[in-house]
Amino acid sequence: MRCPFCGNIDTQVKDSRPAEDHVSIRRRRFCPACGGRFTTYERVQLRDLVVIKTNGRREDFDRDKLERSIRISMQKRPVEPERIDQMISGIVRRLESMGETDIPSKQIGEIVMEALARIDTVAYVRFASVYKNFQAADDFDKFVSELRPDPAPEK
Ligand SMILES: [Zn+2]
Repeated sequence: MRCPFCGNIDTQVKDSRPAEDHVSIRRRRFCPACGGRFTTYERVQLRDLVVIKTNGRREDFDRDKLERSIRISMQKRPVEPERIDQMISGIVRRLESMGETDIPSKQIGEIVMEALARIDTVAYVRFASVYKNFQAADDFDKFVSELRPDPAPEK
């Protein structure tokens, strides 16, 4: 795994352990070239998913983006982090087992809303209210920033 700090490809694994109820392995890595430390997660990926945006553009599915949007919706909600991890893994498994590798972004949004609705109504409303205004924008980064309930104060 290439060091994200200096680009050295010869990094060492210091520690590996299961995370998120054994659906992933967390590895702590060390770069002997620059002394940098970073963490990687290894997960089963059943297939490579592609998101089709409403403007027709295709983009590799990014689990981290999905996770970020869900965590922002769940901010300060009384739901255990393990439960959120399980929900995210469940959503990804659902996407992976849909039979198609190309998935419209709209369908992903609907699956997320369905999962949130089962876990926490407030998080569902937060996500859904942004999602419904979002159809034109269709840019996940923008979506995530709109979802953020407390933006950082301007400097
Ligand atoms: Zn390095």
